[in-house]
Amino acid sequence: MNHDTICALATANGIGAIGIIRISGDDAISVCSKIFEGKNLEKAQSHTVHYGFIKDDNEMIDEVMVSVFKAPKTFTAEDSVEISFHGSPHIAKKILEVLIKNGARMAKAGEFTMRAFINGRIDLSQAESIADLIASENEASRKVALNQLKGGITNEISFLRTDLLNFVSLIELELDFAEEDVEFADRSALNQLLDKIENKLNSLIESFQYGNAIKNGTAVAIIGKPNAGKSTLLNALLKEERAIVSNIAGTTRDTIEEILHIKGHAFRLIDTAGLRDTIDEIEAIGVKKAKEKVDNANVLVYLIDAATEDFSDDIQMIQSLIREDLKSIICATKIDEVSPNHYQNVESVLRNAISQDFDFITISAVENQNIEDLKNELSSYVEQLKSEENNVVITNQRHFEALQKSKEAINKVKEAITTQISTELLAYELRNALEHLGEISGEVTNDEVLGNIFSKFCIGK
Ligand code: GDP
Repeated sequence: MNHDTICALATANGIGAIGIIRISGDDAISVCSKIFEGKNLEKAQSHTVHYGFIKDDNEMIDEVMVSVFKAPKTFTAEDSVEISFHGSPHIAKKILEVLIKNGARMAKAGEFTMRAFINGRIDLSQAESIADLIASENEASRKVALNQLKGGITNEISFLRTDLLNFVSLIELELDFAEEDVEFADRSALNQLLDKIENKLNSLIESFQYGNAIKNGTAVAIIGKPNAGKSTLLNALLKEERAIVSNIAGTTRDTIEEILHIKGHAFRLIDTAGLRDTIDEIEAIGVKKAKEKVDNANVLVYLIDAATEDFSDDIQMIQSLIREDLKSIICATKIDEVSPNHYQNVESVLRNAISQDFDFITISAVENQNIEDLKNELSSYVEQLKSEENNVVITNQRHFEALQKSKEAINKVKEAITTQISTELLAYELRNALEHLGEISGEVTNDEVLGNIFSKFCIGK
């Protein structure tokens, strides 16, 4: 394929010890050669580094190291060059200008990765994993993205897709011999394959819940009446004085989100205004928001002051918030202020009144008692989402949707076989299923989808 030559700053914009400009395309090496004072780059071996100067006509711009990579063993599978310069944004701009003057053009967002995909070096899910790797902020998301880059999800489904493709060919052959009423494709073998594909799809689809927790973090809503100790707990968890703590009821006016990392997983802690009926307008927005946050949360941490005597408000509130798919942890707080008898009683009162399942923990945020227990509860929630059998975890919404559509399509094929529908329609349903399975790796795709995926990349990637 003939590709024009693109260039972009590959490192972050701003001052750094070193900046890197990347150039890729048919003329990458000749364009750089024109502006490089040093060894003749056109004669350089692939994967070698050269010392010299970048010049604009006769004016030296910077002292640099230039790496030369010749196709096809490069990131884009095209001739590529990387210029390492002294990391000034001004120098970056000057070098890009002189590259453009000599025949390169500025790359669009994600264009290098898009070329790697178009040139067949990586599939679409691998291209997406590069963006995920760059965005990874914790161990779990880094590992999943790296596994994906190695071809994780595509390996899982591509051989099943190939088997299905064989069946499609046989069914289409039957269409060619329609008058002779022959059956080349063994229907029961096809059914077995469909079951196998469906199982695989199911386990991948199920992994999305864990994948989501890895990629976006687990949303934890910390709820409780004013003065229950929410802000103090938040600070104890984060070990920093970030939220405003006050003993005036209702001072946590707005919601504050903080990220907490436990055992390599991210938790988005949402501190909220006290949940209570109030006529204070600003406070009321907070209460409404709190309820919304619980709707979107994966975990509810409900705090009750261990010294509480009357639990009716709390019980009512917990019952209105608890749902089946919400992990609920009730914490009796400030246990340093009451006797163990008292807070043990809190648990039995709550268990009698609340029919839904919940975990119960007693804590003192001020004396840092049992905060580790709460952290362990949170991390065990994420751990139990992880399926034992699944090495590949779906983190990408697009893959999730394609898997669901594939599953629907596979079910239609099954139905078509059971109802002994015409071979034409069976072939149609099979093609449809193949298409959805191919969407993940990009074997089947369209420009709009590609544009959408790569536009989310940064320039230079
Ligand atoms: P919020 O309104 O739920 O956010 O409650 P705060 O975190 O602002 O706490 C209200 C009051 O209870 C403050 O005076 C805190 O110092 C106090 N408090 C919170 N947690 C504890 C605790 O574990 N032990 C004790 N003794 N006091 C606490």
